[in-house]
Amino acid sequence: GGTIGILGGGQLGRMMAMSAAQLGCRVIGYSPPGDNVAAEVCHDFFENGWGDKAALAAFASKCDVVTWEFENVPLSAVAAIPDNLLVPHPRALETAQDRLKEKRFVEGLGGKPAPYAPVDSESDLAAAVERIGAPGILKTARDGYDGKGQWRIASARDAESFRFPGKPYVYEGMVEFDAEFSVILVRDADGEVRFWDSTANVHSGGMLETSTLPAGEAVEAQVQQAREIARQTAEALNYVGVLTLEFFATKSGPVFNEMAPRVHNSGHWTIEGAATSQFENHIRAVCGLPLGSTETRFANIEMRNIVGEDALTAYDILGEDTEAHLHLYGKAEAREGRKMGHVTRVSGSRG
Ligand code: ATP
Ligand code: MG
Ligand code: MG
Repeated sequence: GGTIGILGGGQLGRMMAMSAAQLGCRVIGYSPPGDNVAAEVCHDFFENGWGDKAALAAFASKCDVVTWEFENVPLSAVAAIPDNLLVPHPRALETAQDRLKEKRFVEGLGGKPAPYAPVDSESDLAAAVERIGAPGILKTARDGYDGKGQWRIASARDAESFRFPGKPYVYEGMVEFDAEFSVILVRDADGEVRFWDSTANVHSGGMLETSTLPAGEAVEAQVQQAREIARQTAEALNYVGVLTLEFFATKSGPVFNEMAPRVHNSGHWTIEGAATSQFENHIRAVCGLPLGSTETRFANIEMRNIVGEDALTAYDILGEDTEAHLHLYGKAEAREGRKMGHVTRVSGSRG
């Protein structure tokens, strides 16, 4: 195994680094100073700002390949790393960092997003609500995650009170869905694509709460169509690694929500529930190793996030359920609305 560089220091990087270590690779992380929970499972860790070109170059000089666990790594930081080291190619970041760009991109490949409009001012919003209707959701075009940077707009009246701070936004019609799901795939440098099963994802306050298999009829009926869109997206980006597309299962078919050019929270179940986890297959793909089977190993799977202060009693589960798989990310502060860990339960054989 060689040396893998990971941009970003969150739990996704931490779990990626653990898979890399299992495969005998060394991992070097890079992230701005802060709560870098990947740092303790990395061989070396650079705590420097995204603007520190010299540090980024020093980091890259130690790596055989550089990937990321966080899609909002500034493109200027990525530009300080030699292009031939970066996997996937940063064009995926460029597309996914902007909700407008990603919607247009996937729409261009035949995907169907919710009705949407770019919004940069009070009058744009009024016009968007007039055309698309309410209820809807106003989202910052960039930098949002876990439902942060979103406002639900119940009526045209509601929209009038919004003041624009001079950043780009997107207004979307509220989608009536039967279920939410994501397509998680891995693609290798030869173009081979493998999909994991799609769980039903339940969100609360814009944040993922549970991912469950079996996903139910509404999801199962639409997974094939969603996979084709995801496959085309991966091909159009000449993508190498794990790519995620989120969808709503609706009466009129799968509606594309957003993409994440990385491993995804709704794929954490694959650590215990699939033959090869999303983290391991991402590492295999970026290192040019053969991909592992993505097959599901159990009949019933549930992944539940541990958020905020629930982390303070997280170890209780070990006494209550000896088969529960507890993952804690080592975050120092159990702040409200912060993902602290997750628990996966698997049962039943696949028949
Ligand atoms: P993530 O952490 O997944 O990156 P995010 O902050 O980018 O989240 P979205 O995925 O856009 O946010 O939205 C979060 C959740 O809010 C969705 O999973 C869904 O439950 C709900 N939601 C978002 N947009 C819509 C919509 N147009 N119609 C209905 N529900 C929506
Ligand atoms: Mg998002
Ligand atoms: Mg999302």
